[in-house]
Amino acid sequence: MPIPAVEKIWMNGELVPWAEAKVHVLTHALHYGSGVFEGIRCYKTVRGPAVFRLTDHLERLRRSAKIHYMELPYSVDELAAATCALIRANRLDACYVRPIVFRGYGEMGLYPLGAPVDCAIAVWPWGAYLGEEGIEHGIRAKVASIQSLDANSITPAAKACGQYLNSCLAKIEVTKAGYDEAVMLNRHGFVSQGSGENIFAVRGGRLCTPPLSDGVLEGITRDTVMRIAASLDIEVREQSLTRSDLYVADEAFFSGTAAEVVPIREIDDHRIGEPGPVTRQIQRRFRDIIEGRDGEFGHFLEYVS
Ligand code: PMP
Repeated sequence: MPIPAVEKIWMNGELVPWAEAKVHVLTHALHYGSGVFEGIRCYKTVRGPAVFRLTDHLERLRRSAKIHYMELPYSVDELAAATCALIRANRLDACYVRPIVFRGYGEMGLYPLGAPVDCAIAVWPWGAYLGEEGIEHGIRAKVASIQSLDANSITPAAKACGQYLNSCLAKIEVTKAGYDEAVMLNRHGFVSQGSGENIFAVRGGRLCTPPLSDGVLEGITRDTVMRIAASLDIEVREQSLTRSDLYVADEAFFSGTAAEVVPIREIDDHRIGEPGPVTRQIQRRFRDIIEGRDGEFGHFLEYVS
């Protein structure tokens, strides 16, 4: 997807012009994927732009960095302030926010602890990742032959750059086969997640999602969906799912910052159908929250000004 340029990018503590936010070709992360990042959204509300669960995302960034032996060069509060300043400087009402912390230029080789750690935040306007049509009517998913990572490889608990090569393989495989998104299984054959989303299935009115131990990123949208469900008295279970649990689900959907809540209408050519009542309820409540119309979860919005 092309990135629409805006004016400024925050880089190592300074706002720099978009076109000048560059790194050296011998940047460690470019060669070895040694970085961690976040995907966050800022939404337009009647009280001005607000970033959804900014602090929670930055806390996850700090945990991802810790797993990879990196120390964040800035505190979570400093990064939150920098994010808000950047959105204001670019005069955006709504945008995607991409903080990245990565090993920079100065050392090569696989013992990276001597390389400098750089930090940048970029923002740009970005529409629905899997399309508005997908949010409305659902998408077609396919189980990929590429497996998800597990706790003893590049752990999926961290949102690290290198692990997304695996997601890219799955996404390319299913896109070339004519589908919209991949469902990845772990090495035990259980469903873990999409290439960039968590996954939920509904059966008999109950919502099920794989536990984190099945190779799942601790999604902030996943957590939000679980809280919404609790608030709506919908039972939620974290339980392992097989691909056939998805085939016979009454409803299924993906959740993620870029994608938001996206119904799955077909999986491996098994029809699930148009978005059902549970998915619709969750989608509606999610929209109310991000657009600043929900009292109970109002604190999830961190206003830019
Ligand atoms: N799983 C993977 C692999 C992802 O890349 C993402 C997107 N960050 C998610 C799940 C969803 O996480 P979140 O809801 O925090 O965006």
